[in-house]
Amino acid sequence: MIITVYGCRGSVAISRPGSRYGGNTPCIKVTSGDEYLVIDAGSGIMSLAGELSHLPPHTVNILLSHLHLDHISGLGTFAPVWTKGMGVRVFTQTRDERPLEEQVFGIFAPPVWPVSMQEQGNVEVVRLEEEVPRKIGKFTVTGFRADHPDKTLSFHITDGTSSFAHLLDSELNGMDKQSMDLVAKYCRGVDAVVFDAAYSCEDYEASRRGWGHSTVKQGVEIARQTDNKLVIFAHFDQKYSDDELDSWKKYFDSDKYVMAYDGLEIEI
Ligand SMILES: [Zn+2]
Ligand SMILES: [Zn+2]
Repeated sequence: MIITVYGCRGSVAISRPGSRYGGNTPCIKVTSGDEYLVIDAGSGIMSLAGELSHLPPHTVNILLSHLHLDHISGLGTFAPVWTKGMGVRVFTQTRDERPLEEQVFGIFAPPVWPVSMQEQGNVEVVRLEEEVPRKIGKFTVTGFRADHPDKTLSFHITDGTSSFAHLLDSELNGMDKQSMDLVAKYCRGVDAVVFDAAYSCEDYEASRRGWGHSTVKQGVEIARQTDNKLVIFAHFDQKYSDDELDSWKKYFDSDKYVMAYDGLEIEI
């Protein structure tokens, strides 16, 4: 599989001319042969849209970890939603009593968005259940509970040859035993895992405990227990400069750790 990062920042997208890390919010593509899956639809998905315009018309499968704005903000202007012959199929869990389509697409409607995505966009949604594997093309996807507000899924993805775990927007520190067991179950031995590293250790300790995010140091500690060949860190808060993010590499104790950046592509 090939992992491509289109957005590695959290909270809100900002323009960062000259930045080595970029300023887009989360979007990662997992490719196996001629099939691919997209994880989250932050502003980074706009870069993916440019690539898709060169492919024959098709439906784009998107796993949505949760509905916080930084993970869905790119959907409104994502070309396949509005292009004849194209479309978007979202996979996510339900969060309240409303129809799932309304939960996911409802924000993209007047007066927040000029056009109703539900009524006029080429969109559909498929419900995921925690810890129930689902086949999507050649991929098998299993969502499991993350420690993050408003019902968030982490994902285990395999194409039968290699495997990848996605744990953005999850607080690795202070997890209860049930959550730690899930992390161990779905992360142990995978070829690559992406961990949340939203904050510096200093900011986390000072004021960010319980916000549902993690640090590079916490990710390295978990990775020691889960034995992964590659650990990618992402979801960096926009306040951090390139130099500040570079400084977090002091916690790396081997060359299997990587700081994500917009455009990073790694084969696993
Ligand atoms: Zn987020
Ligand atoms: Zn979130």
